[in-house]
Amino acid sequence: MLNERCVKLGKVRSVIRELFEYGNARKAQIGEDKVFDFSLGNPSVPPPAQFDEVLSDLIKNSDPVSLHGYTSAPGAPDVRAAVANYINNTFGDHVELCDIYMTCGAAAAITITLCALCNPGDEVLTFVPYFPEYEVFAGQAGAKLVPVKTEEGTFDIDIGAFRRALSPATKAVIINSPNNPSGVVYSKESIRQLCAALEEHSRALGSPVYLISDEPYRELVYGGEEVPYVMDYYKNSVVCYSFSKSLSVPGERIGYIAVNKEAEEREDVFAAVCGAGRSLGYVCAPSLLQRVCARLLGKTSDISVYERNRDRLCAALEEYGYKVVRPQGAFYLFVQSLERDAEAFSQRAKLFELLLVPGDGFGCEGYVRISYCVSPDMIERSLPAFRALAESYGIIK
Ligand code: PLP
Repeated sequence: MLNERCVKLGKVRSVIRELFEYGNARKAQIGEDKVFDFSLGNPSVPPPAQFDEVLSDLIKNSDPVSLHGYTSAPGAPDVRAAVANYINNTFGDHVELCDIYMTCGAAAAITITLCALCNPGDEVLTFVPYFPEYEVFAGQAGAKLVPVKTEEGTFDIDIGAFRRALSPATKAVIINSPNNPSGVVYSKESIRQLCAALEEHSRALGSPVYLISDEPYRELVYGGEEVPYVMDYYKNSVVCYSFSKSLSVPGERIGYIAVNKEAEEREDVFAAVCGAGRSLGYVCAPSLLQRVCARLLGKTSDISVYERNRDRLCAALEEYGYKVVRPQGAFYLFVQSLERDAEAFSQRAKLFELLLVPGDGFGCEGYVRISYCVSPDMIERSLPAFRALAESYGIIK
């Protein structure tokens, strides 16, 4: 018999992918510009010019054998040192080279981290709405993902609900700020309260509960919003970072894990990360990309486009009567569906060629996600369809 869990995972496509494939088929039928595809979080702006410059410099001026050869399993030492320096110079003295593990993006970083920290039966808490793949990543570690409700209307951390969700089985908490799909950025105060609760719970259990910060959108914030660095607040913390969105290179698969050097079980945590990476086959992240990213730390593609899209879309949708949670970061808009059943609403939106992802998969009923990492031109062209959709519900006349 095959591995049933894997067969099932391989057969059931994610709702997002399903909608994306539908969009491609529909575009082939009626034309690319007639379909308003807001399904995927694929950056619409190119990588910064320096990306190509660094890439060609490396190709022209490095020894090709070592450039394309295996690096050490956790990554090239000079790359890990550059990442550690960047973190320390930007956020404070938190890591050394020996705390950094290069990965194939955030997906691998989270999977490795959960496999490193969890035993079968452990619980991993996360806040609603959450990235649907967390269920899959936790499942791989034999752990159970426990969604925790957030504040009505803002999706900020509900500290009371969080404290009630903690149990003797809690091993870790995953936060994602700026958040996919709500765009919320957790404030310093929210993080402080979260960490105070984690400290109390760890003391009561007599063993650390880990805080995992999933950070593919760290730099994508608007209006000067600040994203607290978890290592400033909690010693038993791990950051899972990705260059996918900041540099617009999601297909290149590159990111890293950073373990706080103050973590109580620092050495064992990093050993477990290496062991998990080894057993999952996630060793030696793409060698060329490791080198490119080490020279582009802190750089981003032109993210001002996303801010303009956010402003245009929020203003128009509010005018048409939609209830929008104004995002502070990332490139998603979480909007209340105009009927209780978000799946039915998403189906109706398709009649207007709008592809909106139902929020149920993010653990949140009654909402749809709009990925606004698209061209400003597409946003503009889609507005009559959003208006017509609202009209069809009698929201505006
Ligand atoms: N975490 C969140 C919240 C995401 O939105 C994504 C991708 O969209 C990932 C993780 C995975 O990112 P990566 O492409 O770096 O694997």
